[in-house]
Amino acid sequence: MATQTTPQREKFCDFCVGAIKSIDYKNFQTLVRFTSSYAKIVPRRRSGVCAKHQRKLAQAIKRARFMALLPYIPK
Ligand SMILES: [Zn+2]
Repeated sequence: MATQTTPQREKFCDFCVGAIKSIDYKNFQTLVRFTSSYAKIVPRRRSGVCAKHQRKLAQAIKRARFMALLPYIPK
């Protein structure tokens, strides 16, 4: 069996829990938590973010990258 060992924690969207409607690109401290060590955007299946917020999150991360708040590539 090729079952990947992923931590089985409850999947709750952090933004839904916090009742956050819009994700600000200036809030890069929160955005950095949703990027991998390779500076990639963490997929929904791993972060547990809902589809609606993942779309907003991805856009916010891309904006933050453009504003040089987040890296495009790892250091
Ligand atoms: Zn959500």
